[in-house]
Amino acid sequence: MINVKDLKKSFGKNEVLTGIDIEIAQGEVVVVIGPSGSGKSTFLRCLNLLEQPTDGEIYFEDELITARKYDIDRARRKMGMVFQHFNLFPHKTVLQNLTIAPIKVKKTDKAAAEKIALDLLQTVGLADKKDAYPNQLSGGQKQRIAIARALAMQPHVMLFDEPTSALDPEMVGEVLEVMKKLAQQGMTMVIVTHEMGFAREVGDRIIFMDGGRIVEQGTPEQVFGAPTNVRTQDFLSKVL
Ligand code: ADP
Ligand code: MG
Repeated sequence: MINVKDLKKSFGKNEVLTGIDIEIAQGEVVVVIGPSGSGKSTFLRCLNLLEQPTDGEIYFEDELITARKYDIDRARRKMGMVFQHFNLFPHKTVLQNLTIAPIKVKKTDKAAAEKIALDLLQTVGLADKKDAYPNQLSGGQKQRIAIARALAMQPHVMLFDEPTSALDPEMVGEVLEVMKKLAQQGMTMVIVTHEMGFAREVGDRIIFMDGGRIVEQGTPEQVFGAPTNVRTQDFLSKVL
């Protein structure tokens, strides 16, 4: 589904991604771990072209989305993204948060968009909040709405950048539960997280990044159970 070849990204003289190669299959759940500053967010942001790669190629569903003439919005519509901070529209209700992009961007008619939205609210367990405003919700509820909002565009892949890092501990579980359900339904997902228990349970593959490259990858059993790289071992010894 996604094929990344020698992806590089620099900010000025700072080369943040130094050459990433990865193929992600449809339905695969890839969990990206690694120390702060290793380039995890930049990698995710390059995948959906929120950042313009400096070099390398990204194929998404067999289209070269890094081609100069490629319509970036076309790729973005098929990639949902969820951030650490939820970025909900504060002056719109929950239902409006979920329907605005499908109506405006995908030209879905309002009734159909609302039906999809209500189904998704059911899925994330927040159907009763459809008329609430974001500031009336807890952090965990906001993040579940943010996930539902991304899903409302019916993306082919979901990218998560530390979706639980800004949450109080008691709210982490409800968000991870929604993500787990999504994984079980076969959604292709790339997830940056520090939740190692979740990574181990839900990840098909664990990617360890350091210094802007993939240093080690494998199944959760391999990477958590028997890491071969010194830097992976060092990182895991600090977080596990
Ligand atoms: P991680 O998510 O693994 O913590 P990031 O991808 O956020 O790492 O950042 C990697 C490096 O890139 C850091 O040194 C950071 O300062 C730098 N960086 C990230 N975004 C920008 C930006 N927009 N402009 C300049 N430097 C950036
Ligand atoms: Mg980050």
